[in-house]
Amino acid sequence: MILFFGTRPGKPETKHLFNCECPYCKQLGTLIAVTEKNYFHIFWIKLFKISSATTIECSHCKRGYYENEFTEEMNLELSKTTD
Ligand SMILES: [Zn+2]
Repeated sequence: MILFFGTRPGKPETKHLFNCECPYCKQLGTLIAVTEKNYFHIFWIKLFKISSATTIECSHCKRGYYENEFTEEMNLELSKTTD
């Protein structure tokens, strides 16, 4: 019996940060956060999340931000749940 297991990426989640100003071009509401999650799977059934990484990109100046560059404002917006 062959056991298929490993990791696979989940669907990236995007989130628009409407109340956040881009630290680079100072435009309001242009930042979009993309979170990619990796899951451990057996037979392609997702078992648990092993990692997630969020990057933020500005749709105006195209500058990207990594987690260690996030401002307090960005983190605050990210922690909010919107629906
Ligand atoms: Zn910008």
